[in-house]
Amino acid sequence: MTKHIYLFGNNHAEGSAEMKNLLGGKGANLAEMTNLGISVPPGFTITTDVCNYYYDNNLNYPSDLDNQMNDALRQTEVVMGKGFGSTDNPLLFSVRSGARQSMPGMMETVLNIGLTSKTIPGLIAKTGNKRFVYDSYRRLITMYADVVMEKAAGVETKSRKGIRHQLETILFDHKEEKGYSEDADLSGDDWIVVSDKFKKQIKEQLGEEFPDDTYAQLWGSVTAVFKSWNGKRAISYRKIENIPEEWGTAVNVQAMVFGNTGKGSATGVAFTRNPATGENVFYGEWLQNAQGEDVVAGLRTPNPLNESTKTDDNQDALSLESFLPQVYNDLDAIRIKLEKHYTDMQDIEFTIEEGRLWMLQTRSGKRNGPAAIKIAVDMFHENLINKERAVLRVSPNQIDELLHPMVDPEEETRSELLAKGLPAGPGGATGQIVFTADDAEAWKKENRVVVLVRDETSPEDVHGMHAAAAILTSKGGMTSHAALVARGWGKCCIVGCNSLQINTDEKTLTVNGVVLKEGDSLTLNGTAGKVYRGKLGLLNADPGTNKEYAELMTWADEIRTLKVRTNAERPEDSVLARSFGAQGIGLCRTEHMFFDPKRILAVRKMILAGSEEARRTAVMELLPYQRDDFRGILEAMNDLPVTIRLLDPPLHEFMPQNNEQINELADELNISADAIRIRISNLHELNPMLGHRGCRLGIAYPEITEMQSRAIFEATAELIKNDINVFPEVMVPLVGTYTEFENQEAIVRKIADAVMEENSVKFNYLVGTMIELPRAALTADEIAQKAEFFSFGTNDLTQTTYGFSRDDIGGFLPDYLEQKVLTHDPFQSLDQSGVGQLVKMGVDKGRSIRENLKIGICGEHGGDPTSIDFCHRIGLDYVSCSPYRVPVARLAAAHSAIINA
Ligand code: PEP
Ligand code: MG
Repeated sequence: MTKHIYLFGNNHAEGSAEMKNLLGGKGANLAEMTNLGISVPPGFTITTDVCNYYYDNNLNYPSDLDNQMNDALRQTEVVMGKGFGSTDNPLLFSVRSGARQSMPGMMETVLNIGLTSKTIPGLIAKTGNKRFVYDSYRRLITMYADVVMEKAAGVETKSRKGIRHQLETILFDHKEEKGYSEDADLSGDDWIVVSDKFKKQIKEQLGEEFPDDTYAQLWGSVTAVFKSWNGKRAISYRKIENIPEEWGTAVNVQAMVFGNTGKGSATGVAFTRNPATGENVFYGEWLQNAQGEDVVAGLRTPNPLNESTKTDDNQDALSLESFLPQVYNDLDAIRIKLEKHYTDMQDIEFTIEEGRLWMLQTRSGKRNGPAAIKIAVDMFHENLINKERAVLRVSPNQIDELLHPMVDPEEETRSELLAKGLPAGPGGATGQIVFTADDAEAWKKENRVVVLVRDETSPEDVHGMHAAAAILTSKGGMTSHAALVARGWGKCCIVGCNSLQINTDEKTLTVNGVVLKEGDSLTLNGTAGKVYRGKLGLLNADPGTNKEYAELMTWADEIRTLKVRTNAERPEDSVLARSFGAQGIGLCRTEHMFFDPKRILAVRKMILAGSEEARRTAVMELLPYQRDDFRGILEAMNDLPVTIRLLDPPLHEFMPQNNEQINELADELNISADAIRIRISNLHELNPMLGHRGCRLGIAYPEITEMQSRAIFEATAELIKNDINVFPEVMVPLVGTYTEFENQEAIVRKIADAVMEENSVKFNYLVGTMIELPRAALTADEIAQKAEFFSFGTNDLTQTTYGFSRDDIGGFLPDYLEQKVLTHDPFQSLDQSGVGQLVKMGVDKGRSIRENLKIGICGEHGGDPTSIDFCHRIGLDYVSCSPYRVPVARLAAAHSAIINA
């Protein structure tokens, strides 16, 4: 016989907290509290397996559920000393959902089940409280009509207005008629009148009578909860939170206790610590003479739980601590007991019936990043958890909240979403819309805060991107130009926001019929990819002043084995990354240095050169600039390794984009604009990402590799002479064959030897390669014969393994995710089963030749916690990510070390 039902009550439960998968979070914790001797109203949990059975069997229940349920009802009756349906001492039930993971407000609840024309008189006689009984009755009618008769049955009301709303209108009218201002003003007789009107309205609008039978009410409610698992709200919540459909929900049937019997009764919710700050204070709200739904519904403003958490606004409100001190003390003792037992902050619900305290729920409380850190560190010092558990208590992404301003979550829940895109750069920002990089820069100079809105960005836009508080693009994916650059600067950025129609000429932005102009305000939540109209409030971030953060990160560093480097090009970024704990530079993209207005001219001259000699002369103009750049970052990273990559992108990216720029360049170089146009069209490639880029440039134009190597080594020589310890690692991009690497390595070494000799100095350096093409991974053993290190460029490796253009995936990714063709964006989180195989093969083959081959990753995945865990497991030495991701990666690496120990 399969057990469908698990009982709890009278200090004994058949389930436990470990059984969340079968009993759901609520059911498992009700069982656990019962076993802890905490007073929980007795009842039983119908398992999630029954939910799955119900859906797998055409909405039918297992045949023996009925019998098991009757047994459970009988046992609960015994514990309570009351009878379900009894005319003189009736027992009422609540029915609540409870999935494995909490889904707040997504599923249904029905209270006061069992009130019928037969049981009502008995309950009135027993309690002597007609008002309470009919108040409970009207609540049952409202919830049942809404949840069971309308939503679960899929019936539409005659007038097409929701039945709950209709019943609320009846109540409102009754109050108006009688001159009452609050529900509390209604007498028992008033509630009788209102209940009768409710039932009439239900019959008329839904075509059926409200059931006057206890069992019909109970089964109707249980079924409605199971059905709510596949309600619209629950389905969309599951999608957002990645909760599998197969989990199903459990149903909890529990004896009612009443917070609405009079002034000595109450209901409330609380957190065992402050969930917004993490402070170790009991924090919650309560309502006198009320049932749980009243707190949630927001019709009445709840009172603060205790004196210490009162604010300026509720100084005069009555706290539970002063109104019912004994009950408050009991509740506080339970708070401490639960924290000790669960060793975590709890979110609890309770009811007080005539001065007696009952616990209705406990679960691990949701908290924000700063609170998570404080609670974890405090709990370590309170000897509740060890360092490893403290480190695991904070999710790497919560660290992010400390590094960026955030959109005020409260304002966010109140605001209507305008559009959704890919969360490319975290944090929140608000500003006025501009459509060009030049405008962004100009407006910033006038002290205005702007959001740069573009279809996509190019290196030409970086000045405006830098000036903007946030960047929003309609195209592009997680490794598009906008995403890379924004992340590097820790800037809020949303890309691939397909619903935007941008008209740069007219300077308008149209989203789902809403037209916005230049200067209108937008707010971006870059952590979630959400765009809002207007100006929402921001919460500031400053990890420097947070001592718990510093302590937690020290523990993370003690625990982790994976090193964390940063992707950075400028000395300022390197310094910042170092302050965040970076242990070197894993990728310096030299081309990012080429767009400075002074240098771009030399770059363009180099590209336009007609002969090797002319090109060599132009390239050499870049040498002093590059030497300065490299000196800057090597010095900023003294004592730490710095990986500098040779030129990577196709040359056309550096060419002028419009006529004005072409004419300017023609004047400067004293050649015709047409000659430039011809050269640009010669450079045009049908598929530039697979075209003349990476080491293919250095092979065709060795003088570029020579110049860059010389700049690196001359800077090195100078710093070494000044007793500054530097460790340059020269990296060749987009290698697919041993011979490509061999070709470039020979040039680099030749220049290194020459610089050492010219400067009469010796220095150490490495020459290694990116592994970012499938062929490089497949032949890693050949390449490792020469290469001294590998760095996985998983952006290109993902692009070339899937054959998905990293710049165009935004066009179809939303469909792929929607239709579950992909579970996630492979440019954001590494595709471990496909691309990951190539990475693993690269590691194994590389180390089969060089046992201690140094291996890292410098694609965007180096900052993604799940991908970092993969890197840890396959034995990489380090991950490299943008400066603002460094703390996230440090914590993620510590998590991996603990989990995989
Ligand atoms: C990569 O391809 O993963 C990489 C780091 O290089 P880029 O993004 O510059 O192509
Ligand atoms: Mg690459």
